[in-house]
Amino acid sequence: MALIVMKFGGSSVGDAERMKRVAARVAERQREGHQCVVVVSAMGDTTDDLIDLTKQICTITPPAREMDMLLSTGEQVSIALLSMAIQSLGQPAVSFTGWQAGMYTEAVHGKARITDIQPERVHQALDAGNVVIVAGFQGMSEAGEITTLGRGGSDTTAVALAAAIKADVCEIFTDVDGVYSTDPRIVKCARKLNEISYDEMLELANLGAAVLHPRAVEYAKNYNVRLVVRSSFNHNEGTNVKEEAMMEQGIVVRGIAYDKNVARISILGIEEKPGQLAKVFTALAKEQIDVDIIVQSGVQSGGADFSFTVSMSDLEKALQTIDSIRGSVGFREVTSETNLVKVSIVGAGMVSTPGVAAKMFETISDLGITILMVSTSEIKTSCVIESGRVNEVVQALHTAYGLDTDQTVFVGGPSERR
Ligand code: ADP
Ligand code: ASP
Ligand code: MG
Repeated sequence: MALIVMKFGGSSVGDAERMKRVAARVAERQREGHQCVVVVSAMGDTTDDLIDLTKQICTITPPAREMDMLLSTGEQVSIALLSMAIQSLGQPAVSFTGWQAGMYTEAVHGKARITDIQPERVHQALDAGNVVIVAGFQGMSEAGEITTLGRGGSDTTAVALAAAIKADVCEIFTDVDGVYSTDPRIVKCARKLNEISYDEMLELANLGAAVLHPRAVEYAKNYNVRLVVRSSFNHNEGTNVKEEAMMEQGIVVRGIAYDKNVARISILGIEEKPGQLAKVFTALAKEQIDVDIIVQSGVQSGGADFSFTVSMSDLEKALQTIDSIRGSVGFREVTSETNLVKVSIVGAGMVSTPGVAAKMFETISDLGITILMVSTSEIKTSCVIESGRVNEVVQALHTAYGLDTDQTVFVGGPSERR
C-alpha cells in the first residue's frame, strides 16, 4: 500500500464530466489499496474569469488581500465537487481548504511561500479511510489571513504536502503526457522526456514552462520527492523528475522555454556616483519585486543608462517604486516596454559543450530578429526579443538543437488562455 498525492490541474477538472472522470481515477487507486491525497485546482478558466471580474468592478489596483480572498474561492468549488463525485462512487472522501489542511504561508498576498505544514487533520482523515481532497494554491498566514501561492501554485501545494506527509510519490496530472522538450502546443514535433533532472526542470519552470510551478520543483528537489508528470486523459507513462536524468547521446539542449510575462524598464541618464544602482534595486526588493536580466547599456556625458526586466504583473508597482526614489537617485528618464518575450535553452550538457549559445544567436539572427538582451548560467542561455514571432523562434531552435521528432503530440484539454 502506497501513500500517493495526486494533483489535477484546471483543465483536468474543467467541467462536470471531467470532474467525474477524475473521481473515478482516484476511486480506482483507493480501491487498489492505496491512500490518496488529491490536490485540485480551480475548474478550467475560473481563476482568469475571477480576475476579469475584478477589472469590471474595481477602479483602483485591486487590494491584494481581497484578491486572495476572491481567487481562493475557485479551488474551494473544485474540492467540494470532487468530494461529492468520489462519495457518489461509494468511496469515503473529505475536502479541506488550504488552511484546514494546515498550509501556513508568509504574510504576502499573491505569491506567498509556504512556511510550515501541519498535516494532522490530513493524517486523521486518511487513517479513517477517506480520500483527502485539498484545495491547491492557497494557505493561511500566521495572522489568519488567506493567501495564494502565485499562478500555477497548486503544483506547489501538492509537492509540499507530499513532502510533509512523506508520500511515496507525487503525481501531477495535466493535459499533456508529461514534460516535453518544449511547449507541445506550439511545437507539434516536441519530444516527450521520459526523465528530467530537478535542476533542468527548475530552470525550464523558472523560464516559463507552465507545466510545473517553479516552487514545486524546488520542493521536490529539497525534500527528494518522487515526482511524476502525466496526463489525466490517458494512462500513458509520464515524465519522472529526479536527481539525475540520463542524457540521450548527442542531445545537449534538453528543452526550450519561453516567457511572455516579461517587461523591460530602462532608466536613462542615471547620475554617476557610488550606490545609485543599490538604491534602485533595494527599493524594488523592499516591494517584493523580482528583477531578472540587468544590462548596463552605456555611459554618456549625461550619466549611465541601464535596463532590466521584471514580470508584467510587477511593472506598474516597479515604475511607481522608481518614481518614489526620484529624489534620492538622480536620473533623466524612465521608459518601459511590454511586447517582449524571453526565449531560453536549457541543458545540463551545455556547461561542457562550446558553441551552444552561439548556435542560438545564429538561429535567431538567421530569422532576421534582433536580440535585445541576453543572460546565461551554466545550464541555460536566455534571449529577450520582440514577442511577435516567438513560435517561429522556438520551432527554429527546436530544429537547430536536433530535438524534433516525428511522433504526434497528444494534447488533451482545450487550448488555455495564457
Ligand atoms: P494544469 O492546468 O494541469 O496545471 P498548465 O496549463 O498549468 O496545466 O500546464 C500544462 C501546459 O503547460 C501544457 O498544456 C503546455 O501547453 C504547457 N507547457 C509549456 N511548456 C511545456 C513543456 N516543456 N512540456 C509540457 N507542457 C508544457
Ligand atoms: N487556479 C490557480 C491558477 O489558475 C492555481 C493553479 O491552477 O495551479 O493559477
Ligand atoms: Mg499548472
